[in-house]
Amino acid sequence: MRISEIFSSIQGEGIYVGYRQIFIRFSGCNISCAYCDEENHEGKEYSIDSVVAEVKKLNKNYHHSISITGGEPLLQINDLLTLLPKLTLPIYLETNSTLPAYLKEIKDLVSIFSLDLKPEYFKEFLESLEMVKDEDAFIKYVLLPSQQVMDYKHMIEELSMVSKDVPFIIQPVTPTKQIKHFPDSNEIISAYTIAKKYLNDVRVIPQTHKIMNLK
Ligand code: SF4
Repeated sequence: MRISEIFSSIQGEGIYVGYRQIFIRFSGCNISCAYCDEENHEGKEYSIDSVVAEVKKLNKNYHHSISITGGEPLLQINDLLTLLPKLTLPIYLETNSTLPAYLKEIKDLVSIFSLDLKPEYFKEFLESLEMVKDEDAFIKYVLLPSQQVMDYKHMIEELSMVSKDVPFIIQPVTPTKQIKHFPDSNEIISAYTIAKKYLNDVRVIPQTHKIMNLK
């Protein structure tokens, strides 16, 4: 399987922020986001056994879970189906929610689902959400500056018809080479207010690992 890196750090995003995890970062993605911070798209080839050995080596201290992240890990579904049963900590899957058919295959091996909402792939997102809405899952939505409020409102309304209770995390974008600014405070509050009209659990959580200078 192709992996960018395997390391121990602190989860910086979403509702499990602050927990120590082992991260397995899969390389390669099927989409391209302007705010992507995954620089090493090439990665290197690992055998299943070498990933298991690397995780074992890192797991000398307490870890809450193993974050399967990327890139988009579900692109390597066959390897995941072999790897995950060999790992002894709970599995936290971070996916861009564009590959519901693969999510279905792996669902029973995962304890925590972090679903990114990419508006361009809303149909696939809703299909993914439907599948895990009764599991330990949350939605992560990266808020860009100058949000199109009408589209956003429509999207939240449709999402609420699948589930009102899955936590909805608004993550103000961290500026990158292509995105120069954070959304301003009015944009953040407005995104929160609209979402809260339809959903029960809405929170704003930025990428805290960047503030702490962690991976
Ligand atoms: S889905 Fe994630 S890994 Fe893929 S391009 Fe977007 S931010 Fe990067």
